[in-house]
Amino acid sequence: MTCPVFRFAPSPNGQLHLGHAYSALLNQEMAREAGGRFLVRMEDIDVTRCTPELERGVLRDLAWLGLGWEKPVRRQSEHFDDYRAALDRLIDADLVYPAFMTRGEVRARIAEHEAGGERWPRDPDGAPIYPGEDRHMSSRERQALIDEGAPYAWRLDMSSAIAHVGGTLCWDETGQGPEGETGQVQAKPENWGDVVIGRKEIPASYHLSVVVDDALQGVTDVVRGRDLFHSTAVHRVLQELLGLPVPHYHHHDLILDDDGRKLSKSRGDTSLAALRDSGATPDDIARMIGASSSAV
Ligand code: GLU
Repeated sequence: MTCPVFRFAPSPNGQLHLGHAYSALLNQEMAREAGGRFLVRMEDIDVTRCTPELERGVLRDLAWLGLGWEKPVRRQSEHFDDYRAALDRLIDADLVYPAFMTRGEVRARIAEHEAGGERWPRDPDGAPIYPGEDRHMSSRERQALIDEGAPYAWRLDMSSAIAHVGGTLCWDETGQGPEGETGQVQAKPENWGDVVIGRKEIPASYHLSVVVDDALQGVTDVVRGRDLFHSTAVHRVLQELLGLPVPHYHHHDLILDDDGRKLSKSRGDTSLAALRDSGATPDDIARMIGASSSAV
């Protein structure tokens, strides 16, 4: 019987809020109940938005909450070689392609399509599916654009990836999806289209680095917010393509604000640091979390 491994994986691109406190504390509690290990991982591949100062703030908040985790903390920005190796395997298998359309070009393409009255498909996060026309570009055309210095992202050719995997993918969910999905959940990666797997300058994306790290760190139990439930379908495809083990998943409630919206760093929702500065104690935080969530 292997020892269960749990992890809390924040992105140090802002300050932690109550939603993060809930996720981190739930992870630690589940690890304790399972007699498992608890890791913290810094998901800082976005090196422009993630800073050492924000990382220090994240660790300070977690320690203040009373959390203890194994050292050293894995910092994704120190492991680009691992993601590069995984990306190279997908490139060699011809399952990713350099996608050159800029955001503006994608918008224009979709507007043109929707002007005809038909709605362009959206992914589970509500973003338009990538048009994917450059999937069929010749290698000479691609090389010419790369030589010109055109920006591009490596995108997974989702239809080919699904065909390559060749069967239905499932995962074991002990929490719940947005529609109450639980137990053996069938992945629907086709709903995502050609997701970004890496960028020209950075050989990683959230989807790629999260599956590589969960495997490298031996994570057996992924406990995270329900907003990432649908992303698990992409993670299952990548695990299958890269021959990685499949953890158990537990997607938990999100902490909502008074208007019923999920908390966000970008909207500047009340941070743990601000609550602490105004005199709140870790017990107050635990009470606030308990009050606004029906903990799954
Ligand atoms: N880094 C992600 C976030 O801060 C979480 C990733 C995960 O738990 O899989 O939202």
